[in-house]
Amino acid sequence: MLDLTYDAPAPKVVAGATSDWELVIGLEVHAQVATKAKLFSGASTQFGAEPNSNVAFVDAGMPGMLPVINEGCVALAVKTGLGLNAQINLVSAFDRKNYFYPDLPQGYQISQLYHPIVGEGEVLVELGNGLARKVRIERIHLEQDAGKSIHDMDPTMSFVDLNRTGVALMEIVSRPDIRGPEEAAAYVLKLRQILRYLGTCDGNMQNGNLRADVNVSICKPGDYEKYQETQDFSHLGTRCEIKNMNSMRFIQQAIMVEAERQIALVEDGKEVVQETRLYDPDKNETRSMRSKEEAHDYRYFPDPDLLPLEIEQEWVDDIKAALPELPDQKKARFISDFGLSDYDASVLTAEVANAEYFERVADGQDGKLAANWVINELFGRLKKEDHSIEESPVSAAQLGALIGLIKSGDISGKIAKDVFEICYTTGRDPAEIVETEGMKQVTDTGAIEAEVDKIIAENPAQVEKAKANPKLAGWFVGQVMKATGGKANPAAVNQIVSAKLGL
Ligand code: ADP
Ligand code: MG
Repeated sequence: MLDLTYDAPAPKVVAGATSDWELVIGLEVHAQVATKAKLFSGASTQFGAEPNSNVAFVDAGMPGMLPVINEGCVALAVKTGLGLNAQINLVSAFDRKNYFYPDLPQGYQISQLYHPIVGEGEVLVELGNGLARKVRIERIHLEQDAGKSIHDMDPTMSFVDLNRTGVALMEIVSRPDIRGPEEAAAYVLKLRQILRYLGTCDGNMQNGNLRADVNVSICKPGDYEKYQETQDFSHLGTRCEIKNMNSMRFIQQAIMVEAERQIALVEDGKEVVQETRLYDPDKNETRSMRSKEEAHDYRYFPDPDLLPLEIEQEWVDDIKAALPELPDQKKARFISDFGLSDYDASVLTAEVANAEYFERVADGQDGKLAANWVINELFGRLKKEDHSIEESPVSAAQLGALIGLIKSGDISGKIAKDVFEICYTTGRDPAEIVETEGMKQVTDTGAIEAEVDKIIAENPAQVEKAKANPKLAGWFVGQVMKATGGKANPAAVNQIVSAKLGL
């Protein structure tokens, strides 16, 4: 396997009025576990269902109802941990996090505070240009989602939809290793990519399937290195947590305005107060939601309805053995097997469906040419029509065949684009299109020579000019291409024109 090595990027530095400041960011990502049923009930997790139609008695907090753990959720949490190279804890436990809210009928959320199912792991976050950040994962725990309060349907009443109540979430907590807004977005993207490869979370941010709480603090240059050496948080500034972000763009904007707010405060001789804030994209500002003093006292305690969760190493090993090829491995393989650039390999492996499509195209073909066609022609065309790869009217076999026709010299790259367009709009096979439409490239040098002779004979003035300035030979090449409807082999035309003009 190819070893991809990257340099660590420089942290984001923001110039304040009196000094430079660096950013320190840690993320808590909530990822909805991709199971059909909820964490402790058999109710469906289907998105967009009729409000309150997917609610079991236990989700509604009915007295006497007992939670029963969904083994599928545990398996996917373990799979996620393995995909993030993390420690799997064979014994974990569920705790009650108590608070009152209308969308939480139990009066508590079942979570894992003290003994999470997954411990330390790491994610490699690539930032382009040979740079990447290793972000440490602190833990992943399983917990229940809450329901949804709806305040804007009626002027006097609020409504509640409990469909989401009790759906399994994985909370993936990073160390404060992220050093800028772009890195934070790239981290979420990378996490999403890995989860989607694993099939453990759909990662649909619009549906709230993946959302992040973003912790931000500022420090003076040099202080972060002291923290790294000692793992002593007192070297870092006080953090604020921006809740519930589900857009890459807003994550970046929120981090920047929050950092600027903290810098202004500190430079003004005031202190950053640890608190939970909300980002308002319309005003591009963060606002206090609750300070630490007002923070809930959650009165955590082990859930007496649930035994500690014990899993077996053998079961973990089975899940590990069945892990799919993950983005880092796939990318490295694409670079070494197909000779792709780092960038092309990243684009092609961003989504597993794209990667699989590409591999089918490149099967037995020139890998680089296949990458160019998939990225530039196919992806470009699909994007124009807002189609996914699954909806591509051109099959991988057809695109592979088209590339074969280019490679064999049957058609030029330029004609291939016309063939591609016909294939895209009609679904016809490339070989048949080339044959029926008479698009085969003219490689017959005799035919090209005749054409060149004719043009030379008709344009004596141009011949004189080209002899004086060989750059003008291109004009003859252009004429021949035009006369042959673009079907002449350009390399052959170039060669013959030069020879005939005696250049
Ligand atoms: P809490 O339970 O209050 O949310 P955690 O210890 O779980 O606190 O930490 C939450 C997140 O805050 C983690 O992702 C961690 O990396 C991040 N974090 C901790 N200290 C800082 C800091 N000084 N600056 C930025 N992020 C931080
Ligand atoms: Mg937290």
